[in-house]
Amino acid sequence: MYNAKAYSAASATSPLASDMIARRDPTEHDVQIEILFCGICHSDLHSVRNEWSDFMSTTYPIVPGHEIVGRVTQVGSAVTQFKSGDLVGVGCMVESDGVCPLCKAGLEQFCQSVIFTYNSPDKYLGGVTYGGYSDSIVVDQRFVLRVPPNLNLAGVAPLLCAGITTYSPLRHWGVTEGKKVGVIGLGGLGHMGVKLAHAMGAHVVVFTTSPDKTEDALRLGADEVVVSRNADEMQKHAGSFDFILDTVSAKHDINAYLNLLGLDGNITLVGAPEKPLDVAAFSLIMARRSLSGSSIGGIPETQEMLDFCGEHNITADVEVIPIQKVNEAYERLLKSDVKYRFVIDMASLKSE
Ligand code: NAP
Ligand code: ZN
Repeated sequence: MYNAKAYSAASATSPLASDMIARRDPTEHDVQIEILFCGICHSDLHSVRNEWSDFMSTTYPIVPGHEIVGRVTQVGSAVTQFKSGDLVGVGCMVESDGVCPLCKAGLEQFCQSVIFTYNSPDKYLGGVTYGGYSDSIVVDQRFVLRVPPNLNLAGVAPLLCAGITTYSPLRHWGVTEGKKVGVIGLGGLGHMGVKLAHAMGAHVVVFTTSPDKTEDALRLGADEVVVSRNADEMQKHAGSFDFILDTVSAKHDINAYLNLLGLDGNITLVGAPEKPLDVAAFSLIMARRSLSGSSIGGIPETQEMLDFCGEHNITADVEVIPIQKVNEAYERLLKSDVKYRFVIDMASLKSE
């Protein structure tokens, strides 16, 4: 066991502040990583503030962060895939049973025994796992990803959650050239959804509540932008979409979007508002539409997504901040004032 520097929150109403946490010494299967950058996901904010308490309560102190990139500093004796000095990534999961049908299918995120990067039981040290707002982490090699060498590292960090969370449903629902695809919400997830759907060849329409994001949306790869508060603009797209990805972090009217789907069209929720959404049966019935959800993506698909981003030169648009600005960044996230992902430069933790 050794001590690592971190930022943690002591309660749902406390700001994140400097802290020291225990990390395990690497076992034979483990990779120890010096964290260089960590993205700030809206899930970090939901978790720190215990907004998902009906579904999964937060244990305090919490060290959030699941968009991790860093450099390998040490590997256990049984580690074959990585060596000291490698640039690697870690996403939302650090462990699963590895033997169930879901793990065997590369769908570790749905394993009954999945251990998330933070706020999951820590079988090594007791308590809960601590995430990436820290200077180092120790992770089983099965959950460590290779980072394409041609990509900017700060821009890679958000791929580990925002990237895979949007890539996986786009693939699952067969997004390809010729499909009309909507992306609701131009934040961290949404802007990755736009880049990825565009790279897959789809016709991409962004729905935003922030008219000032229009130019950016077009630059990121959208073909059209709809300001969702404008009912006339929405109506023009009625019944026309094959697929819509909903990344909104707060309660909103899902029926307004269901009505934009064509026959057999689907909306997949990846956004996870704390309050339930109201669904009108008629929004689904009339065109055999469906509403579904998706959680991150498995480890093989995460590597596939990273390689896809390497090939297509895709990274997140980031605002790199020192860790001392993390509380300010959370307030800006709540105002949808993010362009388009905050990423913490972990070198800033050295001065704590
Ligand atoms: P984010 O950067 O804060 O982006 C959310 C965007 O949603 C905002 O930028 C805004 O876009 C829009 N929005 C916010 N409040 C809204 C409201 N009241 N009505 C309509 N639109 C609103 O958040 P994120 O990191 O992308 O995460 C988005 C959601 O996905 C969160 O709930 C997060 O927990 C969840 N998530 C889920 C998974 C998964 O595996 N399913 C993984 C990661 C994150 P505009 O300004 O364009 O309107
Ligand atoms: Zn996330």
